Amino acid sequence: MKKGKIYVVSGPSGVGKGTIVKKLIEDYDNIALSVSATTRSPRTGEVDKVHYFFMSKDEFTDIIDKDGFIEYAEYCGNYYGTPKAAVYEKLEQGFDVILEIEVQGGIQVMEKFPQACGIFILPPSMPVLEKRLRGRQSEDEETIQKRLQTAKEEMSKINRYHCFVVNGPIERAVADVAEIIEKNRD
Ligand code: 5GP
Repeated sequence: MKKGKIYVVSGPSGVGKGTIVKKLIEDYDNIALSVSATTRSPRTGEVDKVHYFFMSKDEFTDIIDKDGFIEYAEYCGNYYGTPKAAVYEKLEQGFDVILEIEVQGGIQVMEKFPQACGIFILPPSMPVLEKRLRGRQSEDEETIQKRLQTAKEEMSKINRYHCFVVNGPIERAVADVAEIIEKNRD
């Protein structure tokens, strides 16, 4: 059976990566999403092992020591990492696997797997990004400011990615990402 490919989907916090990716895996049977590990606390409605593997810093460090992550990074004061085993298993089964991760981790993955495709999601504008970030009402002001600052740093690394998609109307953005994946299949 043909192995799947890795797609790195990055973009600033609040840009709507999660919404795009969720829609993609609902619509396409052969696309899987990697569930990351994180040391941040769950937001309201987030479920352990579904949205993230929520864990302590010690548990996270333990996985690093056992070489259990494809990549990991510190982002706005918390650690995030992609567990190896599940991703390799899905690739072997022929699924294309999406890693919805921030830029430092995205660059690590693209360096390790030169055949991985990096897709950067851009907001239609910075005011729209800020509005979306505030609209989800899950972060305090300090966190929002930190994420907006990080957004600018992340967007300056867009040239490390293979292509970008602007997240204006959601259906359009989903179709654009789906088309990139479709065209990349051989
Ligand atoms: P959030 O706290 O908003 O869920 O995620 C913050 C940032 O961490 C987002 O840009 C998200 O894509 C990224 N992220 C989620 N999982 C991972 C991961 O496994 N590795 C890395 N490097 N970033 C991740």
